Amino acid sequence: MNEVKNFINGEYCASSGGKTFDNVNPCTGSLNGSVHEATRQDVNAAVLAAREALKGPWGKMTEEKRSAILHAVADGIDRRFDEFLAAECADTGKPYNIASHIDIPRGAANFRVFADAVKNFSTEAFQMATPDGNGAFNIAVRKPKGVIAVISPWNLPLLLMTWKVGPALACGNTVVVKPSEETPTTTSLLGEVMNEAGVPPGVFNVVNGFGPDSAGAFLTDHPGVDAITFTGETRTGEIITRSAAKGLRDVSMECGGKNPALVFADCDMDKAIEGTLRSVFANCGQVCLGTERVYVERTIFDEFVARLAGEAAKFKLGVPDDKTVDMGPVVSHEHQKKVLSYYQLAVEEGAEVVLGGGVPDMPAELAGGAWVQPTIWTGLADDARVVNEEIFGPCCHIRPFDTEEEAIALANDTAYGLAAAIWTENTSRALRVSTQIECGIAWVNSWFLRDLRTAFGGSKESGMGREGGEHSLEFYTELQNVCIKI
Ligand code: NAD
Repeated sequence: MNEVKNFINGEYCASSGGKTFDNVNPCTGSLNGSVHEATRQDVNAAVLAAREALKGPWGKMTEEKRSAILHAVADGIDRRFDEFLAAECADTGKPYNIASHIDIPRGAANFRVFADAVKNFSTEAFQMATPDGNGAFNIAVRKPKGVIAVISPWNLPLLLMTWKVGPALACGNTVVVKPSEETPTTTSLLGEVMNEAGVPPGVFNVVNGFGPDSAGAFLTDHPGVDAITFTGETRTGEIITRSAAKGLRDVSMECGGKNPALVFADCDMDKAIEGTLRSVFANCGQVCLGTERVYVERTIFDEFVARLAGEAAKFKLGVPDDKTVDMGPVVSHEHQKKVLSYYQLAVEEGAEVVLGGGVPDMPAELAGGAWVQPTIWTGLADDARVVNEEIFGPCCHIRPFDTEEEAIALANDTAYGLAAAIWTENTSRALRVSTQIECGIAWVNSWFLRDLRTAFGGSKESGMGREGGEHSLEFYTELQNVCIKI
């Protein structure tokens, strides 16, 4: 049986409290293995190791050398691609088709991109006059922030964790990572790659466990942590932000969404259908940037609904290594219960179920898995909970609109502000509409098209701060001004 241990100071360690929990395969409900839960003592050891490593070779290393080591980490992920792929798909149930194109390659890319970006990140200098006429120079110096706590979710485990670890290490910090309890394996495996690449002990540490009263809370409460970067639910982000207030530690918060898609009558219908199919159903709807509210101009509403439902009905659900499969299960039975509770609520709230709405019939060997049907509703009121709360499953509500102003107002009628997708062939409309949507990322005629140099993050309840490109480097460094009087 596969055992996932904590990784502290370059070594794999069993839980000091002897505590383990199950790692369940969401396709079958069978056990993948067990995970060692970090105790408070284990988290202390990991933070201490990370603090010590700041003083050691990592802290004194040139940017050039650090960057070369991070390229070696990326190469290490590539070399062990199949191992990462199998581990990620066993934990999440997602098809190899998806993880081999997105999760694992992006996991490696996150190290390469930031290893290079850090070398081109400039600071500022100002010359000033002084009363004695001699003047002074101000020179800004960037330093690592220190020990960074990385708290990551289960939907894109390797990708979202390295999205933070890559830039944090490139800037010279050390990290303690707490991966999701649902998907710990690839984060743990990365420890081996770090050792092989020559990352000194203590620079990358992993503690496993849950949130409250477990590794997550022990880590975010720890006074030895200098900053916290988090991806997950908004309510969890609020709790962690409160912990970070102690000691005024910096936070970066990438949280939930209830993202709209706006489909105008002047769109290219084929592109809009193809793009919306991906934005609603990719990764079984478990993408923070995914669409859960679709607004379609009334003149094309019926055609759009029929075509989207027709295409989604063709999805093949199944196991990761079946190359013909489009969709896996949701990540866990607990999440399946949550998604199905919204499926039931939609009916109670008066939805018309256009597609799905329940549990699919699966072959006997998969009957114990966390399967849900791709689902489409119409006819809900704007204040229905299903239209306002994040479900994080393969589902959407589609509603007609009549004017551009109405579409914008509907899109903005949400507590969240992460992403939006706009489908129109009219460039003026694309600019006019996208800039009026209250969100961090607006896509026009595309979705999930990511240039890693660009700002990533959410407004309103979807987050605080931006990562990506220079924005990540800003977060993971402390800017010091040195004023030199001549
Ligand atoms: P979650 O908030 O339940 O858990 C995220 C992580 O926080 C896990 O590692 C968990 O163990 C930890 N955690 C939970 N409670 C904690 C506490 N009190 N203290 C410290 N750590 C704690 O989120 P999830 O269910 O794993 O992920 C799904 C959510 O993540 C969705 O809301 C989704 O929108 C969001 N998400 C956002 C982005 C983004 O970039 N904005 C990306 C992916 C996912």
